[in-house]
Amino acid sequence: MQYTTRQQDDDNRELISTRTGASYPFARLEEYSEDGGSLEVWHPDQDKVRIRSGSRIFERFSGFLPFEAPDPALSLGEGHTPLLSGGSLLNDYTGSRGLLLKNETQNPTWSFKDRGTLASIWMSREMNEQMVATISTGNMGHSVAAYAGRANMRALIFVPGFTPREKIMPIALHGGDIIRVEAPDYAAMKKQILEMAGRLGLRIVSGNGPLRIEGYKLTAFELYEQMQGNIPDYIAVPVSACGHIRGIFKGFRELHQAGYIDRLPTMVVVQAANNAPLAKPLENGKYQVEPFTHVDTLAEAITTGNPMGGAEIMEKAARYGWLGATVSEEQILEAQNMLARAGFFVEPASATSLYAVKKLIGAGQINPDARVVAMLTGSGLKDFDVFRHHSIQVSDYPLEQLEKSLWQNHLQKQ
Ligand SMILES: *Cc1c(COP(=O)(O)O)cnc(C)c1O
Repeated sequence: MQYTTRQQDDDNRELISTRTGASYPFARLEEYSEDGGSLEVWHPDQDKVRIRSGSRIFERFSGFLPFEAPDPALSLGEGHTPLLSGGSLLNDYTGSRGLLLKNETQNPTWSFKDRGTLASIWMSREMNEQMVATISTGNMGHSVAAYAGRANMRALIFVPGFTPREKIMPIALHGGDIIRVEAPDYAAMKKQILEMAGRLGLRIVSGNGPLRIEGYKLTAFELYEQMQGNIPDYIAVPVSACGHIRGIFKGFRELHQAGYIDRLPTMVVVQAANNAPLAKPLENGKYQVEPFTHVDTLAEAITTGNPMGGAEIMEKAARYGWLGATVSEEQILEAQNMLARAGFFVEPASATSLYAVKKLIGAGQINPDARVVAMLTGSGLKDFDVFRHHSIQVSDYPLEQLEKSLWQNHLQKQ
């Protein structure tokens, strides 16, 4: 089945509440149902979708996307990221014999957010909107500003008062309108701004928006192709707003419905121990969100203390047997360091997925031979502040003593 252009009232695309199944118009501006449930795109002929030919992932899987004509010209070359084996260093570190790393730091703005941003821009184009908007302190604002630039659209980026300059600058340079809001509580600010969307007639895309999820599905399709039609046993995902993990899982669900795969991967919800509203209860075998209020972690890309999409994730976790893993600050730094030694320069939030694999294998919850994908979500370039927590060593020598010092300190066998 293929999505086709129809009149609005004849459109077979819908948004449904993932909790109640209630239906909403595909063009709805608000990202959640009235009762706060996550929305997802649904259409009736999911089982008949076929993979097509095409050079890009979104062309081959366009039948799975709810857009009549996804415009390749709006792409910045996102996706098609490497899936690499753990290598001996990281296999030893985690105890895994089947570790795979999906390196999303190779996206145009160095995080997986770009996949979802492209999908939301396609949506805005189809709806003839002139402006895209988001609320963010970092990666998402950067991504939305860049893709708006590519599409020659205006971008409105709401940031909280505490947003650091380094995060604001790329957004500004891409041409985004930065709206800084002084508010005591970022979560409350986010909720209030999202609620304004309908009244302002503005599509404000947040981390868990239903169209963003459609872009994240492509990661599942890529994994399916990269593993030659096999699927991972486990996928460890650092979770904040919950968009990424549910997007990846939705992709696999749709491959399953279409008959391409006969089982689903087990998702692993990974969070910093200092902010683990989902992972902490999951570790304890519970399926209720436990909100965190005073969030303080180096993994600043995963600091949503009470995610609006959390309830859906907990329901899925219970239904599909997902795992949870919390990672302490020390373990985050250790895993970031190990990844860097093995060639991967990631930000702290990203490093949590590697440690989660180590932790769950150590606890006997994951078999060492299982095929486990650790998602590397964002680049180390995104957060330089963290390096004051690492020991950075540089050897300084004057030129005239260089050769002698090299022999003495670096080249001589002990
Ligand atoms: C956004 C982000 C996450 C969390 O993804 P959600 O979709 O918000 O759950 C994890 N890591 C990095 C680097 C991110 O930018």
